[in-house]
Amino acid sequence: MTTNDFSTARPTPRHDLESSSAATVSAGPGPGPAPADLLRRLRARGAGDPVTHVERVPARAGVPAPWPSWAPAELRAAFARRGVVAPWQHQARAATLAYEGEHVVVATGTASGKSLAYQLPALATLLADPRATVLYLAPTKALAADQLRAVSALELEGVRPACYDGDTPRAEREWIRRHSRFVLTNPDMLHHGILPGHAQWSGFLRRLAYVVIDECHTYRGVFGSHVAHVLRRLRRQCARFGATPVFVLASATSGDPATAAGRLTGLPVTAVTEDASPRGGVTFALWEPPLLPPDSGGAPPQASGDGSSPAAPPQASGEHDDLRQVRRSALRETADLLADTVAEGVRTLAFVRSRKGAEVVAANARRSLDDAVPGLGGRVAAYRGGYLREERRELERALLHGDLLGLASTNALELGVDLVGLDAVLICGYPGTRASLWQQAGRAGRSGQEALAVLVARDDPLDTYLVHHPEAIFGAPVEATVLDPANRYVLAPQLACAAFEAPLTPADLALFGDGAKEAVDELVTAGALRQRPTGWYWRHRERPEVDLRGEGGAPVCVVESATGRLLGTVDGSSSHFLLHPGAVYLHQGVSYVVDDLDLADGCALVHVEEPDWSTHARDVTDLSVVSVRSYVDAGPVGMFLGEVDVTSQVVSYQRRRIATGEVIDTRPLDLPTRELRTVAVWFTLSPQSLALAGVQPADVPGALHAAEHAAIGLLPLMATCDRWDIGGLSTAVHPDTEAPTVFVYDGHPGGAGFAERAYGTASAWLRATRDAIAECGCETGCPSCVQSPKCGNGNNPLSKPDAIQVLDVVLANLPD
Ligand SMILES: [Zn+2]
Ligand SMILES: [Zn+2]
Repeated sequence: MTTNDFSTARPTPRHDLESSSAATVSAGPGPGPAPADLLRRLRARGAGDPVTHVERVPARAGVPAPWPSWAPAELRAAFARRGVVAPWQHQARAATLAYEGEHVVVATGTASGKSLAYQLPALATLLADPRATVLYLAPTKALAADQLRAVSALELEGVRPACYDGDTPRAEREWIRRHSRFVLTNPDMLHHGILPGHAQWSGFLRRLAYVVIDECHTYRGVFGSHVAHVLRRLRRQCARFGATPVFVLASATSGDPATAAGRLTGLPVTAVTEDASPRGGVTFALWEPPLLPPDSGGAPPQASGDGSSPAAPPQASGEHDDLRQVRRSALRETADLLADTVAEGVRTLAFVRSRKGAEVVAANARRSLDDAVPGLGGRVAAYRGGYLREERRELERALLHGDLLGLASTNALELGVDLVGLDAVLICGYPGTRASLWQQAGRAGRSGQEALAVLVARDDPLDTYLVHHPEAIFGAPVEATVLDPANRYVLAPQLACAAFEAPLTPADLALFGDGAKEAVDELVTAGALRQRPTGWYWRHRERPEVDLRGEGGAPVCVVESATGRLLGTVDGSSSHFLLHPGAVYLHQGVSYVVDDLDLADGCALVHVEEPDWSTHARDVTDLSVVSVRSYVDAGPVGMFLGEVDVTSQVVSYQRRRIATGEVIDTRPLDLPTRELRTVAVWFTLSPQSLALAGVQPADVPGALHAAEHAAIGLLPLMATCDRWDIGGLSTAVHPDTEAPTVFVYDGHPGGAGFAERAYGTASAWLRATRDAIAECGCETGCPSCVQSPKCGNGNNPLSKPDAIQVLDVVLANLPD
């Protein structure tokens, strides 16, 4: 899948320094209503009070620091010309650590000026040593292009910054390799281009002083595990040329960033986490849309997959995970809030999970504004990936200046870093992690002025839990970024790439970590490597084909039938979910419908069509235990971590109306089964302990099933995943455990670290699961607690009260 690229000119010059400073304040219009007053009017609108909690996030004064003594006058002057008078304390501290040769990660909030923390030591070194070089990595080409403009604008002689990515013309590439001393690229280009071509890069790599890894929290799960090995391959090539670069990483606030950065780079990393940049105060409201009258809902639940689908992304799931429209849709609620804030003259950014959802929110808000005051709707727009970068920059500029008052957008990475200092931010549905929640909320609040942030809950267990447990948002540290470089489905192909670049030696195996020797032996057995006295050699002429963003299986090409144009590729493992006949497939904001999926040719034919429904594939699942890695024997309860084989088949899909979530129909599919070897966490209970807790034998399946659904829904509280990354299976007696069992597994070949994290935090995870079920106001289970949007058994059987009993038995026996 492609990433967005909006690389060149932008209207405001100071994006690089990100400081929540006068630049955006002076650009905007005058102050709107105070957030507390605004919130009072918003919540007084309907019948009951939808606000479950209001948190006041206080303003913070910035703590400036003097320029480090080592920073050359020329560089200070260059920053001063760009409006930076002095660094904030965290910038100065991280910069000095890096300058002194320590690997460092700076993990602070949105717009806290992380880029200065790496620009300062990197550029100081380039000025002091005319031969030194710097490699900068960003997860998207767009961010690299932003950073290129920032560094270029400093106009430092001899640095010659340049982007080197898939779009770089061939003619320029050689010049960049020879002459640029600040090369900006992405992990994919490092993997596909720079490392395999290391001979051409030897001069650059030999003199490499710094490796900058921006937005490093985006390297999580399987993709993060791949990137971890690409960085080890980079370190190996540098070492061959005698270079030992310092790594400087920038991260959104995340739990334990030093450990995550250490896993990513394989190096000891010091974290700088105290944010010393100034911030305006924010009034943060948690908002639960009201329950609808009983008969106004959509259709009843239909047959479905059981949460086992690997990596069906949010675009496929749409905004309507709910099976019954128990509460008013978060999209409609957000649209109304957007219309109300715009009517008050408040500059508002609404975050919506899908592009289609963002357009629905913008369209509804426009309509109600035009009904109120004809023409007012024109001050609301949607912002999506399909626009050209110039169009998007223009939308950002219009919003910052107040020409536009409301913008509905997808995720934060698509937005320019300039777009901060807004008066209100609406977040439609929990974005999956506290880290992203704070990133999105961080767009609100200018220095010296109060702003409003509202999280609108979707009808889903995690969202519902959070709006009723504000301490889980405001009192908890943000999640750890989870990745697992030891995943052998990642390790083996990465070792093949490394061997292609230069034969592997025993010393290299230590660099690649646990399991490297076994993986090399497997590659020898498979005929990919040959062992010689001097090491392991790649046996083929061609390079190994490894896709960093792939999830296993050959990718499937998406081709527009009418033109033969290749739109993109989808991972083999997701193709059954996303590209089945009849699927609505979104690409760069344009909607297509799949006519045919040819699995033999690895090709899906599509045509442009924008129906007013979304599609949701369902599967059925079988699971067997391969091995147990670790377990806790807790009397009648057992908790396990191990490898499992999951067999699944996509059997049908639902069509649901985008605007309401109403199920139109369910259509059968004829697709083959697929196998997944992955990592699972599971728990067992003795039948006696369940009987003692009052769970009747007939209710055991429903109890386990309900507990499984809620446990999957709550796991994102513990790890940076969403429920689409995870699958589950429950049974009153499983042949491999011979006991009532609930399995929760990673939906990625070889595992992604999520089940491992669940095992490590089992009691906290299951405690939150238990509380979420117990505290839900429904009687027999609803999408906010035990129903799952992708259940293979039509959410049947489910027993909400017995699920609480099951979890109580587990928690009573499991050590903390
Ligand atoms: Zn409920
Ligand atoms: Zn289910």
